[in-house]
Amino acid sequence: MVVKKLVAGNWKMHGLSADLVEVKAIADASRNYPGVDVALCVPAILIERAVRAVPGFAIGGQDVHHQEKGAHTGNISAAMLLDAGAALTIVGHSERRDAQRESNAEVKAKAEAGLAAGLGVVLCVGESLEVREAGKAVETVLAQLDRSLPEARGGEAELAIAYEPIWAIGTGKVATPSDIAEMHSAIRAQLVERYGEDGAGVRILYGGSVKPSNAAELFGIHDVDGALVGGASLKAADFMPIVEAAAG
Ligand code: PEP
Repeated sequence: MVVKKLVAGNWKMHGLSADLVEVKAIADASRNYPGVDVALCVPAILIERAVRAVPGFAIGGQDVHHQEKGAHTGNISAAMLLDAGAALTIVGHSERRDAQRESNAEVKAKAEAGLAAGLGVVLCVGESLEVREAGKAVETVLAQLDRSLPEARGGEAELAIAYEPIWAIGTGKVATPSDIAEMHSAIRAQLVERYGEDGAGVRILYGGSVKPSNAAELFGIHDVDGALVGGASLKAADFMPIVEAAAG
C-alpha cells in the first residue's frame, strides 16, 4: 500500500519564543508539498504559541500522561494537549523510556489515552547498539512493539510507528538500508497481524540522524513511510530538504 509520507520534527528540549520564526518558515514552506504530511512536536509550553503562529499546521507534543487528570505534578494530559491546539503527540521516545524509566505498559497506556482523545500518536520503538550487535534487533523491537501497541485501532485518530535505533539518535550514525528494510517489514507484518487490514495503513517512520543528505535514500526504502527528525528539524533550512525528499 502506498501511503502519504509523514515527516515529523521532534524539537526535544529546544525552542523559545524566538524560534517561532522557524516554525513559521517550516509551515509556510510545507504548503509547497501537499503530498507530504508535515508536523512539528515542540516543547509543551510552546504548543499554543506555535499553533497561533501557524493555524492549520500540525503542531504536536512530545509526551502525554496516560490518565485524564489528577495528582501528577508536571505531567500533561491528552485533553490539555488538545486544548492547547496540538494535533498529535510522540509517545515512548527512547530518551523518555531511558531517563523517565517508561515501561512498555506505560507507553501503551499513553498511546491509548492519546488516540482515545483524538490525538495522532507517533509511538517510538528501537534497539540499543548492544542488542543490534548481538543480532537481536528484530526480535527485541517486535517484543517492545507487541507490549507497547494500543489494543485496538478504533477511532479516527492516527497511529504511526517510529523505528528509531537508539544508537542512531543524535549520533550521525544511520542504520543500513537493508537493516531498515528488514525492520520495517517485520514491523509491518506485526501491525497487520494485530490490526488486520488497518495495519497496512499505519505509517512506519524511520528516525535516527535523518538529514538532507540521507533523506532521499531512506525514503526510497520499502515501508519507510516518513521520518521522525530530531536535530535537523530545528531549522527550516535543514528540515525542508527532508520534506522535499519525502515528496519524491
Ligand atoms: C529523534 O529525536 O527522535 C531523533 C531521531 O533525533 P535525531 O534526528 O537528532 O537523531
